[in-house]
Amino acid sequence: MEFEPFVFRHEGVLLGMRAAPDDDVERRALLDAVNAYTLRPLEPAEFAVFSLDLCHNQVDRHFSRFPDEELEKVDRMVPGRPLMERHDLRGSLPRGTFFRSRLHRDEARVSVRPDVYVLRTDDNRDFILNIEGGVYRETSIGFSFRTPECSVCGRDLRACDHVPGRSYGDKTCHFILRDVIEVIEGSVVASGSQGTRFVPRENRGLPARDALEFARDRYHTPVELISRRPWAAE
Ligand SMILES: [Zn+2]
Repeated sequence: MEFEPFVFRHEGVLLGMRAAPDDDVERRALLDAVNAYTLRPLEPAEFAVFSLDLCHNQVDRHFSRFPDEELEKVDRMVPGRPLMERHDLRGSLPRGTFFRSRLHRDEARVSVRPDVYVLRTDDNRDFILNIEGGVYRETSIGFSFRTPECSVCGRDLRACDHVPGRSYGDKTCHFILRDVIEVIEGSVVASGSQGTRFVPRENRGLPARDALEFARDRYHTPVELISRRPWAAE
Protein backbone atom coordinates (compact mmCIF):
# COMPACT_ATOMS: atom_id res chain seq x y z
CA MET A 1 0.00 0.00 0.00
CA GLU A 2 1.24 3.50 -0.89
CA PHE A 3 1.27 6.12 1.85
CA GLU A 4 0.37 9.75 1.24
CA PRO A 5 3.17 12.22 1.95
CA PHE A 6 2.92 13.94 5.30
CA VAL A 7 2.99 17.68 5.83
CA PHE A 8 4.88 18.51 8.96
CA ARG A 9 5.90 21.48 11.06
CA HIS A 10 9.17 21.54 12.96
CA GLU A 11 10.26 24.13 15.50
CA GLY A 12 13.35 26.28 15.56
CA VAL A 13 14.55 29.59 16.98
CA LEU A 14 15.17 33.02 15.64
CA LEU A 15 18.83 33.80 16.13
CA GLY A 16 18.49 37.52 15.64
CA MET A 17 18.96 40.42 13.38
CA ARG A 18 21.99 40.69 11.16
CA ALA A 19 23.80 43.98 11.39
CA ALA A 20 24.99 45.36 8.06
CA PRO A 21 28.45 43.84 7.45
CA ASP A 22 31.40 46.25 7.92
CA ASP A 23 33.39 44.47 5.30
CA ASP A 24 32.81 45.74 1.73
CA VAL A 25 33.09 42.31 0.16
CA GLU A 26 30.56 40.82 2.60
CA ARG A 27 28.21 43.74 2.12
CA ARG A 28 28.35 43.28 -1.64
CA ALA A 29 27.78 39.52 -1.29
CA LEU A 30 24.72 40.09 0.92
CA LEU A 31 23.25 42.64 -1.44
CA ASP A 32 23.82 40.40 -4.45
CA ALA A 33 22.26 37.42 -2.67
CA VAL A 34 19.13 39.45 -1.78
CA ASN A 35 18.85 41.04 -5.20
CA ALA A 36 18.90 37.64 -6.87
CA TYR A 37 15.27 37.39 -5.67
CA THR A 38 14.04 40.91 -6.45
CA LEU A 39 12.73 42.49 -9.63
CA ARG A 40 14.73 45.67 -9.07
CA PRO A 41 17.96 46.03 -7.08
CA LEU A 42 17.25 46.99 -3.46
CA GLU A 43 19.32 49.40 -1.39
CA PRO A 44 20.54 48.13 2.02
CA ALA A 45 18.25 50.60 3.85
CA GLU A 46 15.19 49.03 2.24
CA PHE A 47 15.31 45.70 4.08
CA ALA A 48 16.18 44.00 7.37
CA VAL A 49 17.98 40.64 7.51
CA PHE A 50 17.34 37.97 10.14
CA SER A 51 19.00 34.63 10.75
CA LEU A 52 17.07 31.58 11.84
CA ASP A 53 17.99 28.21 13.25
CA LEU A 54 15.23 26.50 11.31
CA CYS A 55 15.65 22.79 12.04
CA HIS A 56 18.26 20.41 13.39
CA ASN A 57 19.27 16.77 13.86
CA GLN A 58 18.29 16.39 17.54
CA VAL A 59 15.13 14.74 18.85
CA ASP A 60 12.68 17.57 19.59
CA ARG A 61 9.94 17.69 22.20
CA HIS A 62 7.48 16.18 19.73
CA PHE A 63 9.73 13.16 19.27
CA SER A 64 10.89 13.80 15.75
CA ARG A 65 14.35 14.17 14.27
CA PHE A 66 15.92 14.99 10.91
CA PRO A 67 18.84 12.78 9.86
CA ASP A 68 21.85 14.78 8.61
CA GLU A 69 21.33 13.90 4.94
CA GLU A 70 17.77 15.28 5.03
CA LEU A 71 19.08 18.54 6.55
CA GLU A 72 21.40 18.90 3.57
CA LYS A 73 18.36 18.60 1.33
CA VAL A 74 16.36 21.14 3.37
CA ASP A 75 19.33 23.52 3.27
CA ARG A 76 19.26 23.44 -0.54
CA MET A 77 15.47 23.85 -0.70
CA VAL A 78 15.04 26.82 1.65
CA PRO A 79 16.37 29.75 -0.47
CA GLY A 80 13.47 31.33 -2.34
CA ARG A 81 10.79 30.09 0.07
CA PRO A 82 8.60 32.62 1.93
CA LEU A 83 8.84 33.61 5.57
CA MET A 84 5.37 33.78 7.09
CA GLU A 85 3.96 35.46 10.15
CA ARG A 86 1.85 32.89 11.89
CA HIS A 87 -0.74 34.30 14.27
CA ASP A 88 -2.47 30.98 14.59
CA LEU A 89 -2.47 27.71 12.72
CA ARG A 90 -4.52 29.04 9.81
CA GLY A 91 -3.78 32.72 9.42
CA SER A 92 -0.46 33.50 7.83
CA LEU A 93 0.92 36.48 5.96
CA PRO A 94 4.09 36.35 3.91
CA ARG A 95 6.64 38.78 5.35
CA GLY A 96 9.95 37.93 3.77
CA THR A 97 11.99 35.70 1.50
CA PHE A 98 14.75 33.29 2.43
CA PHE A 99 17.70 34.20 0.22
CA ARG A 100 20.54 31.97 1.39
CA SER A 101 21.16 29.12 3.79
CA ARG A 102 24.00 27.14 5.31
CA LEU A 103 24.51 24.14 7.57
CA HIS A 104 25.78 25.03 11.01
CA ARG A 105 27.73 22.41 12.99
CA ASP A 106 28.19 22.53 16.74
CA GLU A 107 29.77 19.22 17.74
CA ALA A 108 27.06 16.62 17.12
CA ARG A 109 24.31 19.17 16.52
CA VAL A 110 23.75 20.10 12.89
CA SER A 111 21.19 22.75 11.96
CA VAL A 112 19.93 24.61 8.92
CA ARG A 113 20.61 28.34 9.31
CA PRO A 114 19.05 30.46 6.60
CA ASP A 115 19.01 34.25 6.25
CA VAL A 116 15.79 35.98 5.33
CA TYR A 117 15.15 39.53 4.17
CA VAL A 118 12.08 41.53 5.18
CA LEU A 119 11.20 44.74 3.37
CA ARG A 120 11.04 47.83 5.56
CA THR A 121 7.56 48.77 4.43
CA ASP A 122 4.98 50.43 6.70
CA ASP A 123 3.14 47.15 6.73
CA ASN A 124 6.14 45.21 8.04
CA ARG A 125 7.14 47.72 10.71
CA ASP A 126 5.36 45.99 13.61
CA PHE A 127 6.55 42.61 12.45
CA ILE A 128 10.20 43.76 12.48
CA LEU A 129 9.69 45.45 15.86
CA ASN A 130 8.22 42.26 17.30
CA ILE A 131 11.30 40.33 16.21
CA GLU A 132 13.74 42.98 17.42
CA GLY A 133 11.88 43.20 20.73
CA GLY A 134 12.04 39.46 21.34
CA VAL A 135 8.28 38.85 21.13
CA TYR A 136 8.65 36.72 18.03
CA ARG A 137 11.53 34.40 18.69
CA GLU A 138 10.38 30.95 17.75
CA THR A 139 10.24 29.64 14.24
CA SER A 140 8.79 26.68 12.51
CA ILE A 141 9.34 25.12 9.15
CA GLY A 142 6.54 23.60 7.09
CA PHE A 143 7.54 20.81 4.76
CA SER A 144 6.30 17.56 3.32
CA PHE A 145 8.07 14.23 3.46
CA ARG A 146 7.36 10.67 2.54
CA THR A 147 8.57 8.41 5.32
CA PRO A 148 8.19 8.71 9.09
CA GLU A 149 10.70 6.03 10.02
CA CYS A 150 10.45 4.35 13.43
CA SER A 151 13.66 4.80 15.44
CA VAL A 152 13.11 1.48 17.20
CA CYS A 153 12.44 -0.98 14.37
CA GLY A 154 13.31 1.03 11.25
CA ARG A 155 9.91 0.48 9.59
CA ASP A 156 7.43 3.13 8.52
CA LEU A 157 5.78 4.21 11.79
CA ARG A 158 2.37 3.86 10.20
CA ALA A 159 3.02 0.18 9.66
CA CYS A 160 4.52 -0.73 13.07
CA ASP A 161 3.08 -0.51 16.57
CA HIS A 162 5.73 1.53 18.40
CA VAL A 163 4.57 4.76 19.99
CA PRO A 164 6.68 7.92 19.69
CA GLY A 165 7.73 9.10 23.15
CA ARG A 166 7.45 5.65 24.73
CA SER A 167 10.54 3.75 25.90
CA TYR A 168 11.48 0.31 24.59
CA GLY A 169 14.39 -1.05 26.61
CA ASP A 170 16.95 1.75 26.54
CA LYS A 171 15.47 3.37 23.41
CA THR A 172 12.83 6.07 23.26
CA CYS A 173 10.78 5.81 20.10
CA HIS A 174 10.81 8.84 17.80
CA PHE A 175 10.04 9.78 14.20
CA ILE A 176 12.99 9.91 11.82
CA LEU A 177 11.91 12.29 9.08
CA ARG A 178 12.98 10.71 5.78
CA ASP A 179 12.54 11.60 2.11
CA VAL A 180 11.77 15.31 2.36
CA ILE A 181 9.82 16.28 -0.76
CA GLU A 182 9.35 20.00 -0.41
CA VAL A 183 9.96 22.92 1.94
CA ILE A 184 6.73 24.93 1.95
CA GLU A 185 7.58 27.90 4.15
CA GLY A 186 9.32 29.08 7.28
CA SER A 187 7.29 30.89 9.95
CA VAL A 188 7.92 33.21 12.84
CA VAL A 189 5.68 32.68 15.84
CA ALA A 190 5.22 34.29 19.23
CA SER A 191 7.08 32.49 22.02
CA GLY A 192 5.26 29.58 23.55
CA SER A 193 2.76 29.07 20.77
CA GLN A 194 1.96 25.60 19.54
CA GLY A 195 4.45 24.76 16.86
CA THR A 196 4.76 21.26 15.52
CA ARG A 197 1.84 19.62 13.83
CA PHE A 198 1.92 16.39 11.99
CA VAL A 199 -0.59 16.62 9.23
CA PRO A 200 -1.81 14.10 6.72
CA ARG A 201 -3.03 15.92 3.63
CA GLU A 202 -6.73 15.33 4.04
CA ASN A 203 -6.82 16.08 7.75
CA ARG A 204 -4.97 19.30 8.45
CA GLY A 205 -4.28 20.32 12.01
CA LEU A 206 -4.03 17.07 13.97
CA PRO A 207 -1.34 16.77 16.64
CA ALA A 208 1.38 14.26 15.78
CA ARG A 209 0.08 11.35 17.78
CA ASP A 210 -3.52 11.64 16.51
CA ALA A 211 -2.33 11.97 12.93
CA LEU A 212 -0.28 8.81 13.32
CA GLU A 213 -3.32 6.97 14.75
CA PHE A 214 -5.36 8.19 11.81
CA ALA A 215 -2.80 7.01 9.29
CA ARG A 216 -2.43 3.65 11.05
CA ASP A 217 -6.17 3.05 11.12
CA ARG A 218 -6.28 3.68 7.43
CA TYR A 219 -3.34 1.42 6.82
CA HIS A 220 -4.89 -1.46 8.76
CA THR A 221 -8.41 -1.09 7.36
CA PRO A 222 -8.98 -3.90 4.89
CA VAL A 223 -9.50 -2.72 1.34
CA GLU A 224 -13.15 -3.06 0.43
CA LEU A 225 -13.89 -4.67 -2.85
CA ILE A 226 -17.07 -3.30 -4.25
CA SER A 227 -18.65 -5.11 -7.09
CA ARG A 228 -20.09 -2.46 -9.33
CA ARG A 229 -21.94 -4.98 -11.41
CA PRO A 230 -21.77 -2.91 -14.57
CA TRP A 231 -23.86 -5.50 -16.32
CA ALA A 232 -26.74 -4.71 -13.92
CA ALA A 233 -26.65 -0.98 -14.54
CA GLU A 234 -28.25 -1.00 -17.94
ZN1 LIG B 1 8.58 0.54 15.06
